Amino acid sequence: MNVRIRRTTGKGAAARDAVAARPFHYRGRGLCCDGVSLEELATEYGTPLYVYSAEQIRYRFGLFQAAFAGREATVCYAVKANSSLAILRLLAELGAGFDIVSGGELERVRRASGQKNKAALGRVVFSGAGKQEWEIDAALKAGILLFNVESEAELELLAARAEALGVRARFALRVNPDVFAETHPYISTGLGSHKFGVEIGNARAIYGRAARRKWLDAAGVSVHIGSQIRAVGPFAKALERVAGLVEELRSDGHEIRYVDAGGGLGIDYNDSPTEPKFDAAGKVREYAVALGKAAAGLGAVHLLVEPGRFVAAQAGGLLTRVVVVKKNGAKTFVIVDAAMNDLIRPALYQAHHEILPVVKGRGASAKVDVVGPVCESGDFFAHDRKMPRVKAGELVLVLDAGAYGMSESSNYNTRARAAEVLVDGAGDGDAGARLIRRRETLRELMAAEIL
Ligand SMILES: *Cc1c(COP(=O)(O)O)cnc(C)c1O
Repeated sequence: MNVRIRRTTGKGAAARDAVAARPFHYRGRGLCCDGVSLEELATEYGTPLYVYSAEQIRYRFGLFQAAFAGREATVCYAVKANSSLAILRLLAELGAGFDIVSGGELERVRRASGQKNKAALGRVVFSGAGKQEWEIDAALKAGILLFNVESEAELELLAARAEALGVRARFALRVNPDVFAETHPYISTGLGSHKFGVEIGNARAIYGRAARRKWLDAAGVSVHIGSQIRAVGPFAKALERVAGLVEELRSDGHEIRYVDAGGGLGIDYNDSPTEPKFDAAGKVREYAVALGKAAAGLGAVHLLVEPGRFVAAQAGGLLTRVVVVKKNGAKTFVIVDAAMNDLIRPALYQAHHEILPVVKGRGASAKVDVVGPVCESGDFFAHDRKMPRVKAGELVLVLDAGAYGMSESSNYNTRARAAEVLVDGAGDGDAGARLIRRRETLRELMAAEIL
């Protein structure tokens, strides 16, 4: 099933830069992913279809590796942004660490890294406010790098499991720095009123009590203030507060070696998909400099960062076919075969996604709503969007869907989940498109049910 679809781009620096800027671009009138025709992919694999650029993921992850290369640091990709095995494998091959939030994600990292990249398990940090015993056990046995502990009760459980298994558990307390960051309320996590972490003012006492537990190793401090945060200021502010705590902890005798700055760096969803203005490389450098300054003075410390969205979002698009175009009063609805169960971001976070016709429009633009067929008014991709006219049967691409797209998909309305394709040029100038998840069948969808 590994269809090789020849890419039509030339080689050379110009083509590479275009790919680095954005993986989706028109060749003639047809929209491509790294030179591979989306029309052909839709014909081959059907729709809705997630299409990802391997080169873009490598490029984006590489920006973080390069920006932190001057210091002791590990870039731990946040698995929940896009947890497809083939994507995790690609990142494991680049030497990525992983930020996981469940035992399921640990199992994904294990399978994706395989024997060849087994060391990736030693670069795993485990976050999450409600870790269960089986998940802690699995992570202890896997020998992960660090538990980001979110409550004193969890610390008790971790100590008990570590003792039972006879392994010492390295942990970092996730502290809540009480820093406000401008983002959607559902993905803001760093305020005193949120469920995440422990109040920074209480941390010192908790570390003090933990020091008496021989199966616990107070190895670090962690923080994560939220997601889709565009400015680097809040990250620096949070890390400064963490740095203050680290100094106190060290003076109390704790050997703090790791500082985990979390993830959350945001992208520009409104940027032009084909002529981007957003300087991703510059943003990552700015972020690294700000974190570096905040952590200066800490001496020997291993910095961990956990980008998810920034690595995966712009590498992926959701390819979907127009089912019907219909007018209700003054409104025009473009009803497509993808829906909120495939990509819930607009419904959940009022998120904006750019949408492009796969065949470049020549005619006049019109204001339309692009919606899915699910029985919810929240099932939309765009409201009152000015775009070239499209007809039933034509394809459109929902951009920047590589993060929190497939990983937040569901079977709502008994809709089988989409297929996924990875376009990988791997620098050989002949991109292949590889199916990395086949379309779910209705039989599979209902397989666990009992009549
Ligand atoms: C979700 C999450 C991340 C990743 O956030 P992005 O906005 O995708 O970079 C990193 N760390 C933790 C603890 C998270 O919960």
